[in-house]
Amino acid sequence: MNGRAAVFYGVEQRFTLQELPTPEVEPGGVLVRVNAAGICGSDLHYWRGDNPLPVAVGEPGPVIPGHEFTGVVHTLGQGITTDSLGRPLKEGDQVAFPYFFPCMRCYNCMRGELHACPYRATRTAVKNYPYCHGGYADFFYLKPGHFVFKAPDELSKETLVPVNCALAQVTFALHRADLHVGDTVAVQGAGGLGLNAVAVAREMGAGQVIAIDGQDRRLELALRCGATDTININELPHADARIRRVLELTSGRGADVVMEVVGFPQVVLEGLQMLRLGGVYLEIGHITPNSSMTLDVNLVVRRQIRFLGIQHYNPWIIPAALDFLVRTRERYPLAEVTSDTFPLEHINEAFEAAEWLGREGGTRVTRAVVTMLQ
Ligand SMILES: [Zn+2]
Ligand SMILES: [Zn+2]
Repeated sequence: MNGRAAVFYGVEQRFTLQELPTPEVEPGGVLVRVNAAGICGSDLHYWRGDNPLPVAVGEPGPVIPGHEFTGVVHTLGQGITTDSLGRPLKEGDQVAFPYFFPCMRCYNCMRGELHACPYRATRTAVKNYPYCHGGYADFFYLKPGHFVFKAPDELSKETLVPVNCALAQVTFALHRADLHVGDTVAVQGAGGLGLNAVAVAREMGAGQVIAIDGQDRRLELALRCGATDTININELPHADARIRRVLELTSGRGADVVMEVVGFPQVVLEGLQMLRLGGVYLEIGHITPNSSMTLDVNLVVRRQIRFLGIQHYNPWIIPAALDFLVRTRERYPLAEVTSDTFPLEHINEAFEAAEWLGREGGTRVTRAVVTMLQ
């Protein structure tokens, strides 16, 4: 059996659609028929050439990117009858799963820190087995032993797309921050991750959530997703004014938690000054090397800031995120975060639409999604 895959050949050629074979499904493996995949901020980085695509194993070469995606079970390997929570799983069921593969046998995995397994990124060149190792394709292969969770039927594929990246990532981060009922959270950036963070922070009991962005549509959506206040960076173009605004909104104290999902170093310096004494800084946005800044470390010490760098998550976050979506689907319009959909064959157009850097006023796109199955 063959499937289509959007193979990335670098910033010049970008994506080319290719037919590739699907792997033989081993006992314990699951072949997923992908139905939708999102374009995450991290995808835009390699697309515009900020950094090369990481290829962790095998020979380097063109790869199939795409890590924020969902699909249905196409083939269950021998011995698999349930998902990772023991719930019956059959072919045709919608599923969600971590897009990275913890090795389960290293020091960090042994300590339950699967998000920090040094061997978890297993993307390989497209010519290497099992070929379908990225989300921008008709098929994706879950190796034997990987985590897979049945997704509730009432959730649409558009709602499910952000589960294994944006939603899981910010949920894990807020969990790591030890967020308490009534806390104030400021979110720097109201795109795919930021909007999910606003809703999750509210659901976790935050009393006040301040969304900071430069796009009216995003800020309006943030308010509907549970933000209590917004700061438009076009109205307050100077960092000092934005810091002052956060202090005003928090009785002069600063926020308990600030999350950074923009990925510009100067944003970090600004965010650190929005924190209260003893606050937690959640750093997620800087995923490319050379994101340098000059920091007076005394600020971190004097203000007793806990600075947490967060990448990836533990698998339990996925079923928690699915339950959150079912429970709150009438409350937060997170499905609207997906603003534009494109068929897989138009993936290059989808990336053009999602690009915000160097564009006057950014882009109105909050999340572009490519779809495979109807
Ligand atoms: Zn992502
Ligand atoms: Zn490991």
